[in-house]
Amino acid sequence: MTTISNTGAPASTPLPPRSLYTAVVSGLLFPLQEQIKRHSTVRVRRRMDDTEYWPPERLERLRLERLRRLLLRAQTQVPYYRALFAEIGFDARRDVRSLAGLARLPLLDKALIRRHSAGLRAEDAGELARFNTGGSSGEPLIFYIGKERVSHDVAAKWRATRWWDVDIGDPEIVVWGSPIELGAQDRARAVRDRVMRTMLLPAFEMSEANLDAFVARIRARRPRMLFGYPSALSHIARHAESRGQRMDDLGIRVAFVTSERLYDEQRAQIARTFGCAVANGYGGRDAGFIAHQCPHGGMHITAEDIIVEIVDDEGRPLPPGATGEIVVTHLASGDFPFIRYRTGDVGALSTRQCGCGRSLPMLEEIQGRSTDFLVAQDGTVMHGLALVYILRDIEGMKGFKIIQESLQSTRVQVVIDVPLDDALTGHITHGVRARLGAGVAVAVERVEAIAPEASGKFRYVVSKVDAARRYGAAAP
Ligand SMILES: [Zn+2]
Repeated sequence: MTTISNTGAPASTPLPPRSLYTAVVSGLLFPLQEQIKRHSTVRVRRRMDDTEYWPPERLERLRLERLRRLLLRAQTQVPYYRALFAEIGFDARRDVRSLAGLARLPLLDKALIRRHSAGLRAEDAGELARFNTGGSSGEPLIFYIGKERVSHDVAAKWRATRWWDVDIGDPEIVVWGSPIELGAQDRARAVRDRVMRTMLLPAFEMSEANLDAFVARIRARRPRMLFGYPSALSHIARHAESRGQRMDDLGIRVAFVTSERLYDEQRAQIARTFGCAVANGYGGRDAGFIAHQCPHGGMHITAEDIIVEIVDDEGRPLPPGATGEIVVTHLASGDFPFIRYRTGDVGALSTRQCGCGRSLPMLEEIQGRSTDFLVAQDGTVMHGLALVYILRDIEGMKGFKIIQESLQSTRVQVVIDVPLDDALTGHITHGVRARLGAGVAVAVERVEAIAPEASGKFRYVVSKVDAARRYGAAAP
């Protein structure tokens, strides 16, 4: 009997042998590339393959040691932290007795990084790469990453990839991309992608004609893994299904999704259409590779490198199981420290242990950006799903987006096959008011298509109501 695990994969599928080509790329070419870039990626990943099975106490000692080193370097080499520690009387030599000692330090957010961009660079930092992110959230951020951190972030992603019996060098389709990132795809990048057997499909160009072409390219490519936004992969899956096109006969083992909340029906759609497991990943350029799902379904934190705290409105740490804002400290970020960095995402630390035997602690399902939450007029905070349920049950509904402009006003954009008449408008308005308050002005607008954010990501719910009071909300 075939059993379906909670990641959607048939548990008894035999593993085909990994190809010689993949072994050469993973064991030789990729390590060579990393060496040329002076990254320690290979060494870091090998060590991580070991530490993930360490007893929790030993892992904890490693993290404490690394935290002490990070804070000591911040104190001695980073002007912003030197001044801050002096001001609050914090001494990394004396005050880091446990990971909980971190809570004495203030939170770091995007506004602070913007204001102290120069003062956050370590004076002894090596070569730094400049990044910017967050354009779609309306909070752009420029920050810097040293080679140590790049190596650790790449190694963490590589390790989690290998949990799924796929590796760098296996044929891969990547559905991604802001136009900016794609513009940087020069000739060298194209050659690299060919060698690594990675093909990029632009996520922000999901027209009907392009979707047909995407389906054809995936079929021709027969990738072993997919990588992309859950919205983009499920969109392609739905399109293939509507065309009666099979995609589960290509040998795809796993679809890695990241960067957006993964909804249950997206997971089911991707697993069904592509006949593969779905592995959720959580992190970002700014915060690092925070957590990744294993084949047993556990959302394992990259604990060697990242300390995750869940905090309440006042920035106080909450116990495992409690929901709050996810705050991270990146232990390999000494060149430009991310210490107690507010991600703006909402989640909880897991109280469970995973069946896979890895001792890495886990997050519960990420509930989404704080802007995915809506606030009712009476102050009740709810996940956007509360309204998503109303819309997706409507006959002929092809797409929608909910924009909470203020406590008094919400807009609902719909892409719909049937006429948007008074009855339907009334039904949607009634549903929105039932949850957000009887006095809310609701505008229902018919649109041709829901525009993705500038990054190519789709967001079904966007709230512009002040995020400060949202934590503690339970997902419906
Ligand atoms: Zn696990």
